[in-house]
Amino acid sequence: MLYDYTNTTPEGVTNITDTAIEAANELINAIVAVEGPNTIANTLLPLNEAAAIIEAAYGQGAFMARVHPEAAVRIAATDEEEKINKWGIDVVFRSDLYAAIRGLTDSEPEATPEHLRLLDFWMRDFRRAGHELDAEQQAELKTLKQRLVELEVAFSANVDAYSDHIEVTRKELDGLPNSFIDALKPGDAEGTYRVTLDYPDLFPYLQNATSRGRREELLRKKNTSVVEENRPLLEEALGLRRRVAQLVGYDSWAHHSMDVKMADPDRVERFYADLVPRLKEKVKAEHDKMRSMLAEEYGDDTLQQWDINYYSTKIRRDEYGVDQYDVANYFPLEAVIDGMLDLTAEMFGVTYVRQDETNAWHPDVYLYAIVDSETDEHLAYFYMDLFPREGKYGHAAAFDLVAGHTNLAGEKIRPVAAMVANFTKPTDEAPSLLRHDEVLTLFHEFGHILHQTLTRAETVRFSGANTEWDFVEAPSQIMEHWTWEPDVLARFARHYQSGEQIPQEMVGQLVAARDVNIAAASLRQAYFGILDLLLHDDAEKRDLDALDREAYEVNELPFPEGTFFLASFGHVMGGYDAGYYGYLWSKVFGDDMYSRFQSEGILNPSVGRAYRSVILEQGGSKDADTLLLEFLGRPPSNEAFLANLGL
Ligand SMILES: [Zn+2]
Repeated sequence: MLYDYTNTTPEGVTNITDTAIEAANELINAIVAVEGPNTIANTLLPLNEAAAIIEAAYGQGAFMARVHPEAAVRIAATDEEEKINKWGIDVVFRSDLYAAIRGLTDSEPEATPEHLRLLDFWMRDFRRAGHELDAEQQAELKTLKQRLVELEVAFSANVDAYSDHIEVTRKELDGLPNSFIDALKPGDAEGTYRVTLDYPDLFPYLQNATSRGRREELLRKKNTSVVEENRPLLEEALGLRRRVAQLVGYDSWAHHSMDVKMADPDRVERFYADLVPRLKEKVKAEHDKMRSMLAEEYGDDTLQQWDINYYSTKIRRDEYGVDQYDVANYFPLEAVIDGMLDLTAEMFGVTYVRQDETNAWHPDVYLYAIVDSETDEHLAYFYMDLFPREGKYGHAAAFDLVAGHTNLAGEKIRPVAAMVANFTKPTDEAPSLLRHDEVLTLFHEFGHILHQTLTRAETVRFSGANTEWDFVEAPSQIMEHWTWEPDVLARFARHYQSGEQIPQEMVGQLVAARDVNIAAASLRQAYFGILDLLLHDDAEKRDLDALDREAYEVNELPFPEGTFFLASFGHVMGGYDAGYYGYLWSKVFGDDMYSRFQSEGILNPSVGRAYRSVILEQGGSKDADTLLLEFLGRPPSNEAFLANLGL
């Protein structure tokens, strides 16, 4: 079901949430008031319905915190997000509900595998909510968890609300193309321009500006933002997480968090211990090369963080002939979207229908329906909100607005999802032209959308991307592979003015330049993951600056003194706590699954159908290990992953 977002008001958002919570509570109150035995029908299914009601309220109301153009709506929605998350905690702390679910579990009911799994997961939640503890300890646990919600919501809101810029002269824009400069707003001082921290400004500037000093300044601004606001919130949250883990009997928050994931802290440690030394060996040559370029260009041989993107871009341009803006001329957004949709339609057996009337929260937003191409079944909807706006979520992500599931009446409820991103905007002179890294992001996020929308799960808990959190980036990262396939690019990459197909030579250069500084980029990913682990794998409080410094060491670069990147590291306060490793970890599986396409045909529709039915449709209704075994026909291997890293 679709909502009309055009008349959203702050009061409306509050009403939606309150009404949903009331309805969900009524269902739960009926469960605990059941006379006679608790059954799947009178207990588990109403509980699933309650979850669906809350999820839908999130999609209609609280989600507006990320995207609504009006600040008042975003602020109200942030409060409602907090309310919803706190409600979720209230539910698992209800001892009457625990008794009902426990009664049902003990009765060993006949049920579908998915329903039995859901029952198991509820019991796991109750265990983690400390129902075995004494009343005083359980009350403390609940207070801690409620406070954690407040801290996490406030942290993310601070990151979203923050905006800043530097003012540069025309000279300080040397290296950047006119299309970039034309899109900049003027600065306060005569003849200056504003380069903001928004992605469409930040990345091109770091990649291209010859002014090394201003690059440093921009990156420092980014990595010193919201420190005053967010550092105390993070410090407090880490303390509360340690205490939560201790109360429910885990060695650390990392152990607590990974207890419900594929990995455990030891396996992740071994993963990095195996990978990082190989990457460090490989990065030496990359750094040496950049260092000599730096010495030649600036007379300095100390390579810094703000040099890496710049030299990666320069090497691609000067040695491989890849000018990302020349390439972008072949990637007008609309054509890329159409190409991506055609490709996935063929492979996965679906049809996409663009909707004229969106009733969305902003006129820039697109809406599509997904239809099964064999049965004509209308499967799902998804929105695409692709350009930066003030106050909008600043990264790229996919959100569940309605979780696909079967409702109490036995009807299938269609999933609705939304892709939110910040791509290069159209200007008066040109349409939105995507750099290749933006094409990659579009495909990545669309992988999440497909996971969310092609689900066949009956329960909200296992719907779509609700799988183990360290597998969730596999269906997104696998999509990135297609953006490097010449046959795929040839299908839709056309010059926005001449309509000429992207020259084969250009594609060849692009692909050849893909792995420039790949070790440096991978070590940066490892740095984020290791930092996140260091924050969470200790039972004792430690100094955050020292931890950052310790983790940063994997980069083999000087630590940028005076920065505190953690204050805007949204992942550690946005669900990826003790989970950031999941990006590299699940890339292993994304690469491994893609190897089946590589050997059986990258556009092979029968592999595509298998991928859809095993991985996408089953979502979280089985363990990721089981899904991988079903799709691959063997246990997963890291061979493709290492080969892709050139290791
Ligand atoms: Zn992702």
